[in-house]
Amino acid sequence: MSDDNHRIATQVIHAGQSPEPRTGAVMQPVFQTSTYAQPWPAKHTGYEYARTQNPTREALERCVAALEGGTDGVAFASGLAASTAVLQTLPEGARVVCGDDLYGGTYRLFTQVFRKAGLQFAFADLAAGDLDELIPEGTHLVWIETPTNPLLKVIDIAAVAARCKAIGATLAVDNTFATPIFQRPLTLGADLVVHSTTKYINGHSDVVGGIVLTASAELAAQLRFVQNAVGAVPGPWDTWLTLRGVKTLAVRMRQHQENAQAVLAWLESRSEVTRLHYPLRSSDPGYAIASRQMSGFGGMVSVVFDLSLEQAERFCASTRVFTLAESLGGVESLIELPASMTHASVPAAQRRALGLEDGLVRLSIGIEDAQDLIADLDQALRVAKG
Ligand SMILES: *Cc1c(COP(=O)(O)O)cnc(C)c1O
Repeated sequence: MSDDNHRIATQVIHAGQSPEPRTGAVMQPVFQTSTYAQPWPAKHTGYEYARTQNPTREALERCVAALEGGTDGVAFASGLAASTAVLQTLPEGARVVCGDDLYGGTYRLFTQVFRKAGLQFAFADLAAGDLDELIPEGTHLVWIETPTNPLLKVIDIAAVAARCKAIGATLAVDNTFATPIFQRPLTLGADLVVHSTTKYINGHSDVVGGIVLTASAELAAQLRFVQNAVGAVPGPWDTWLTLRGVKTLAVRMRQHQENAQAVLAWLESRSEVTRLHYPLRSSDPGYAIASRQMSGFGGMVSVVFDLSLEQAERFCASTRVFTLAESLGGVESLIELPASMTHASVPAAQRRALGLEDGLVRLSIGIEDAQDLIADLDQALRVAKG
């Protein structure tokens, strides 16, 4: 099946998949096997052993690669396993420049695991400042997330990609928040896109997974080697569930965005709100770049309430439709308090200096009825203020 001519809402359903040839089964079967029969020693069907090849996994890899405008996808058992694989393609002692507002688990992986393995990391605010200075010659890899978590700062992907090209560095973009529905970094010059498929790509909060996409045959070969040599592969059921989840990505993202707009409009009317972060609001500092490189944004909203830490905790504990939980990107709405949860390990003074106030609440707006979401936040706010 040719996937190139179709728009993304068609690709999420069909890209990389065709009916199973023996029976015509419309859905890709779950190839729940660890090995494959060979007709003759050292002759095989293209499938030898399931760490190396699995047709269910390959269908997911082809599908997400097409969505991102890549030629290859390489799937892993988690988002962090996908990030690990990218770093494992680097030469010994390689230099990595990262955005300073990374997902906490990525930061921990880089500083507590890969620093020990001899890689060198520098963290910089790549949403501001001189890229030539922040990304020096000799850099092997630049790693960014945009919009960032939880402040939703926007980094200019094309500008960072141009700097990377000039000095021969590879650019990897974690596109978990925006998804290819709203932002396609490979088309802006990035070399690699990384997803925690745990989030929007699967979208149903029932699988942990990751994937790396590229349009470079050379990078794809390196990643495939690591996938097989290290073996952090996802199981066939997980890849099948993700393949099923991704089919609704386009409609889900549209609804996440619509609900986020409704919640934002309500938040704007509330006197308790002191700051709102959403890159596609015209007053947002990232708006100009976001409107250039993104065609929309989903359900991630960060909001600062004029509440003490204790009140903010009560607010988050009092919602009934929003579930108090880490993670994001599922059909159900989640609420999270960075100061007490995802960013509690950052000392309070540093947290405030970074803009992570005690009253900062991160919402992952789901696809429930927006009026129910607003009513829920409204009643929780009343409880919080006592
Ligand atoms: C969750 C997340 C990850 C890590 O993915 P896992 O699937 O949890 O390993 C990486 N980046 C971002 C932006 C995330 O939200």
